[in-house]
Amino acid sequence: MHVVVVGAGLLGLSTAHALDQDGHEVSLVEAGDGPGLETSFANSGMLSPSLTDPWNAPGIFFKMFRWLGREDAPFLLRLRAVPSLIGWGARFFWQSGRQRYEKNWISNLRLGLYSMEVLNDLVTEHKLPFARGYTGILKVFRNREELSAGLKQADFLARQEIETRVLDASELVELEPALSGAAHALEGAIHHPIDGHGDAYLFCRALERVLGKAGVQFHYGLQARGFSRDGQRIAAVETDRGPIEGEAFVLAAGSHSVELAATMGVRIPVRPAKGYSITLDLKDGCEHPQIPVVDDSLHVALTPLGEKLRVAGTAEFTGYDKGLTKGRIQNLLDVLGRIYPHCAEQAQSEAVAPWCGHRPMSADGVPILGATSVSNLFLNTGHGPLGWTLASGSGRLVSDLIGGKTPNLPLEPYSVARFRSYWPF
Ligand SMILES: Cc1cc2nc3c(=O)[nH]c(=O)nc-3n(C[C@H](O)[C@H](O)[C@H](O)COP(=O)(O)OP(=O)(O)OC[C@H]3O[C@@H](n4cnc5c(N)ncnc54)[C@H](O)[C@@H]3O)c2cc1C
Repeated sequence: MHVVVVGAGLLGLSTAHALDQDGHEVSLVEAGDGPGLETSFANSGMLSPSLTDPWNAPGIFFKMFRWLGREDAPFLLRLRAVPSLIGWGARFFWQSGRQRYEKNWISNLRLGLYSMEVLNDLVTEHKLPFARGYTGILKVFRNREELSAGLKQADFLARQEIETRVLDASELVELEPALSGAAHALEGAIHHPIDGHGDAYLFCRALERVLGKAGVQFHYGLQARGFSRDGQRIAAVETDRGPIEGEAFVLAAGSHSVELAATMGVRIPVRPAKGYSITLDLKDGCEHPQIPVVDDSLHVALTPLGEKLRVAGTAEFTGYDKGLTKGRIQNLLDVLGRIYPHCAEQAQSEAVAPWCGHRPMSADGVPILGATSVSNLFLNTGHGPLGWTLASGSGRLVSDLIGGKTPNLPLEPYSVARFRSYWPF
């Protein structure tokens, strides 16, 4: 079957790979000049089933109101974005009820664990170079309240058989000596050995090479505008340079999947949540960490990627705006100073490669995969802060569905149809 995939980020490429493995003819349509240049470009790089808890956790409603207008808030809501968030926001808060939150978390966790299996097979087969580390991740906590919330989450993960190690300051420094300058100010830490990390953009480039050799057609610099119909089915994706015909179509265009799906009457509750990163070279005199560190108070992660260190995180609901707000970059520099003070000194005099990207956030924090009301239109989007962790498994599940195979995970928790079955949202 000829399958056309729209979007060559982590999700589009992973879908294309699974489809190619299954013997389909695959074409990728991408507005940018190459793979992985949007949200998949400079993310935190964590491959982290242990971080699959949805952001809309119990209590998020009150926290977001407390943070309103604060430039240093982990989640910042800009007033100009409010009209576009009304329906989505109501669902987002509704899903933060304890039972719904835990159910959504388990859906993400299962997909995260499955994705690691699929990714490992891919890496073993193709030896992809993307600065991969297998060190686990460290969550660090600055006060008792944060630590006790972290311990409750660790307990939940332990009940799902995810290995968890609670560390005091000296155990923490023994595991990650680069934290010796920061450990005195921390209340404690949790290590999840199951997690890993790697450079998502290098992965996209490496996967593109594999796909190119396999005969996948890449159409770069081509903006999809909508679809043309053949009765109840799609005949072609319409682009700014003419139609591309196919037998099945996968939308993996990140947050922009929303407007493309809408042209076929398919509504997807996904909105962009902007995040920032800075990346610096690890020079002499700088700390040289081996393990990614998540500073829970600001939702910021510091990830070693080969000879570089990436500091990334925070969320800003501000529509599709691509501007780099100084205050948000400064937040990352502040966290860097509190965790790796020597690196922060270096960052004062050297370029830090600031970047921002739009996480495609679904209303319940679970990705949206699979079939739609249009028989040959499929979705692979809405992975929010977890697109790197969930990409390989998501691509595999969507390809299984298109090829009529039985997927390794039930697809109902990820189907767009789930949003119709909730009352009121
Ligand atoms: C600061 C930050 C930190 C993060 N850290 C992590 C992390 O540590 N671990 C993790 O798992 N995830 C992380 N994420 C999330 C992850 O990066 C995203 O979920 C993932 O990149 C989304 O991939 P995607 O393929 O859906 O979207 P994208 O990478 O945005 O790809 C979509 C592609 O579609 C193309 N496109 C859009 N519209 C059209 C159109 N009309 N026609 C043609 N092409 C189109 C775009 O050009 C783009 O290339 C982070 C995100 C951010 C912002």
